[in-house]
Amino acid sequence: MGSLGKIFRYASSLWPYYALISALTLLISGAQLLQPVLTGRMIDVLTRTGDSSRVNEIITLVVILFLMDAGSGVINNVNGYLGDRMSAKLHKILAERYFKHLTTLPQSYFDRELSGKIIGRLNRGTQQLSQFINLFANNFLQFVITTVFALALTAKYSWLVALQLAALYPIFIFMTVKTSTKWQKWQAERNHALDTALGRFSESISQIKVVKSFVQENKETRFFSKYMSEFVDKGKPQSRFWHNQDMIRRVVLALIFLAVYLTIFIQAANGDITSGNAVTLMLLAFQVRIPIFSISYLVENTQKAVADSRDYFEVMAEKPDIDDAIGAKKLKVSRGKIEFRDVSFGYTDELVLKNLSFTAKADSKIALVGESGEGKTTITSLLMRLYASSGGSIYIDDQDISKVTQSSLRGSIGVVFQDPSLFSGTIRENIAYANPKASISEVESAAKAANAHEFIEKFEKGYETEIGERGLKLSGGQKQRIAIARAILKNAPILVLDEATSSLDNKSELLVQEALERLMKGRTTIIIAHRLSTIQNVDTIVTLRNGMVDEIGSPAKLAHTKGIYARLLSLSKKKSAEEVKKALQEFDLKV
Ligand code: ADP
Ligand code: MG
Repeated sequence: MGSLGKIFRYASSLWPYYALISALTLLISGAQLLQPVLTGRMIDVLTRTGDSSRVNEIITLVVILFLMDAGSGVINNVNGYLGDRMSAKLHKILAERYFKHLTTLPQSYFDRELSGKIIGRLNRGTQQLSQFINLFANNFLQFVITTVFALALTAKYSWLVALQLAALYPIFIFMTVKTSTKWQKWQAERNHALDTALGRFSESISQIKVVKSFVQENKETRFFSKYMSEFVDKGKPQSRFWHNQDMIRRVVLALIFLAVYLTIFIQAANGDITSGNAVTLMLLAFQVRIPIFSISYLVENTQKAVADSRDYFEVMAEKPDIDDAIGAKKLKVSRGKIEFRDVSFGYTDELVLKNLSFTAKADSKIALVGESGEGKTTITSLLMRLYASSGGSIYIDDQDISKVTQSSLRGSIGVVFQDPSLFSGTIRENIAYANPKASISEVESAAKAANAHEFIEKFEKGYETEIGERGLKLSGGQKQRIAIARAILKNAPILVLDEATSSLDNKSELLVQEALERLMKGRTTIIIAHRLSTIQNVDTIVTLRNGMVDEIGSPAKLAHTKGIYARLLSLSKKKSAEEVKKALQEFDLKV
């Protein structure tokens, strides 16, 4: 029931729609309730003998009945329209909130969830919820009003019949709610299966090249089918259960109505009520039947909405990224000194980094060297506060990064990753990602500095060339240079290069390396390099072993200390090419 409250809170801004629909519903309910009364009157007028005004009176009653009928038809459609608008708006509200919330979630959330799942939950949640709100607005109030007034009217004619009809509600609601728990459990399992199927679906489609080149289309399809079947199969007992329960409910309903009819006719036969009254009571009883069915329909849909929106709300309840501390100030970078002081961190309980301390002087280049999986990338993630360190602090120009605003921190750091991660859209849009308002000449000069201008110019549409999802229509070297142009345009005082050239062929690597040299000028740079030659040119090297700093020093100094770097250097001189390659690979390095 708590989630029902949440649903209404989300829809609260739509109250004018709800109010209007409710007001119109009142009119329909009133018209509906008058029908049995008027019909009963007609019967009584008909049975009155020797009255010349009978026909006129009947005609008046029939015309009123017609007007109410036609009026209800009109109002019903106005309400339907309003309901559609309301649910469409709710759909938008729900989807926007979801997206906005997702963008605030920490990196760790995306590390563990598949994007297809996240999208599946959105679709299910928003569709069910907006449908439910529409149904609710159009039915709930009408149902309550019709019930209360029909019962009151019935009591006026026969309290015994009213009592019998009133007994229906608790019995019916009890039976429906009892069905609910079991039904929802099935639904949760079905949704889980569907999410798993959709998660894999989007993963294989977005990496279809790998699927095809490994000839795994069938395996991927089978995986998808397996979970789709589970989704469909679990629907069978669920549906059977629901309809069994509904059958029982309807038999109970029929029994109660048997008692109601018997009472009405016995009372009429005994002369306790007139024939007209009997007809009115019969019609009122019919009217009570409708909301009874509406209940089960509403309850069924409430269940669906609650079950299907559970995952939606679960995502909404995820805690946003490490919030800015209260009174967090903007980071002011004047020179760009970076200092790690006793930093520890683990993705799980196991620490990846232990008591790490090092300083990158302003305007210097610092290289992180360590075996694959040592935590080099993790260090850069901590610097951007993608994860919170579990111990120690990181300072930029002597300001603790945990105490500054996240946007100012990330705004001060330019990054080039191994995977350029471009977006669909044009080249210009991608380069100007950090500042969409950048002029075309700014974009061009960034592209020139990134050695990208030349190849972009060769495209027929130049900077307006569409590059496809994640830049699929470009070569690796082209993508990487666009990613560099993007970082150049951001013009951040601190730079992180995480194996920015490792996936490139030698020729494009040369172009990219040149571009990077330009980019690093006048900035403090943390380099995770994959070439020994790059490392030889930095100001400071930090070598890592077992998650701890092994050595810190200039390349010249570390060349003689017999540490990791010295070993790598001597390796590259002495041994055979094959051995060197193998040894360096352990450190994600090439000669
Ligand atoms: P490097 O960049 O030095 O190769 P990483 O910093 O990427 O290493 O990874 C350090 C360790 O942390 C590795 O053991 C890796 O398995 C683990 N790791 C990296 N990213 C995650 C993550 N998102 N969740 C859990 N463990 C991770
Ligand atoms: Mg790495």
